[in-house]
Amino acid sequence: MARARSSESTSSRHMDVSIEVVDHNSQNYETVGDWIFSADGHRLQIKVSRLSDWRHEALVGIHELIEAVLCKEAGIDQELVNVFDRAFEEMRPLGNQDEPGHDPGAPYHRQHRIADAIERLLATELGVDWGKYDLEVASLAQDREEGDGALTRK
Ligand SMILES: [Zn+2]
Repeated sequence: MARARSSESTSSRHMDVSIEVVDHNSQNYETVGDWIFSADGHRLQIKVSRLSDWRHEALVGIHELIEAVLCKEAGIDQELVNVFDRAFEEMRPLGNQDEPGHDPGAPYHRQHRIADAIERLLATELGVDWGKYDLEVASLAQDREEGDGALTRK
């Protein structure tokens, strides 16, 4: 069945995706995974903090990929997501290790939860110990907190 579609429709365009492992301190803000769309929306860049196990890095990268793709389809602006995440980190109580996307007020809450569910499924299949994985991610954030005293600093 033929469907009428505008040639400018975003759904008819290709999108290039890159997933890159970077030094945690080079992330744009306090996060182990970041996703950035180019201005034209045709390139998606995902940055994952270097972790001890390639499977951990893959889990973060795939989580970000799922979340970014779902946000794009839902029309959720990445700037809204970034603003929310930064505010969340600024308000984070000491010792709290929640992910900002878990907050029901997050503009990408639904997308984050779906990404989280798939990430957990994949972790099981890869034989990743979720507790150890979680601990490593949390310790990165803590190292940074102790380093410069502000979670949101680059
Ligand atoms: Zn997320």
